[in-house]
Amino acid sequence: MKIVLATSNSHKVKEINLLVEGLDIEFVLPPDDFDPVEDGKTFEENSLIKAREAWKLSRNWVLADDSGLCIDSLNGAPGIHSARYADTPQARIDRVLTEMKSLKNRTARFKCAMTLINPDGEVAFSYLGVCEGSIITEQRGVNGFGYDPIFLVDGLNQTMAEVSEEMKNKISHRGKALKKVLEYLATLQ
Ligand code: IMP
Repeated sequence: MKIVLATSNSHKVKEINLLVEGLDIEFVLPPDDFDPVEDGKTFEENSLIKAREAWKLSRNWVLADDSGLCIDSLNGAPGIHSARYADTPQARIDRVLTEMKSLKNRTARFKCAMTLINPDGEVAFSYLGVCEGSIITEQRGVNGFGYDPIFLVDGLNQTMAEVSEEMKNKISHRGKALKKVLEYLATLQ
């Protein structure tokens, strides 16, 4: 089955297709005019906004995700503002480390809200994947992207930027959410 991935990033489509190799699923980009206004207050709301917009343009199966980092001692920030917390990935990490300089509680979690819409425009399945961890004071590791180098994964002595891509796909917020979506899709066949 073809599923429109509610993103304009072709890199994301490539990545997710590698994860479903061997299954009867192919993710494709939405039409060029896909440009949702992400004005929701939660990951779930923004995921639904993206999914609805992609469905309106395609009337196909659609999968959307919205993700970010939530830090307890910053009252959940950067949260839904994760991608825009500063101008560059390094500046975003620097901002978090500066804001947390004198803070003792370092607990944090990555969240990923996925929404699957069927060709009738109904939400068929949704899931919030969570990965618990804590924010360290210095960057470690070169893999991954975004806040990975400062996110120490609970239960591992490694940051998200130190684990392999394969391991990240298993333990990450996005990996967990995708697993549930694929389990749901398997029930349809
Ligand atoms: P979006 O879901 O593509 O809008 O991404 C939201 C932002 O959250 C990204 O630009 C990153 O800053 C952050 N983020 C989401 N997932 C991860 C992750 O797995 N590692 C590091 N940062 C992430």
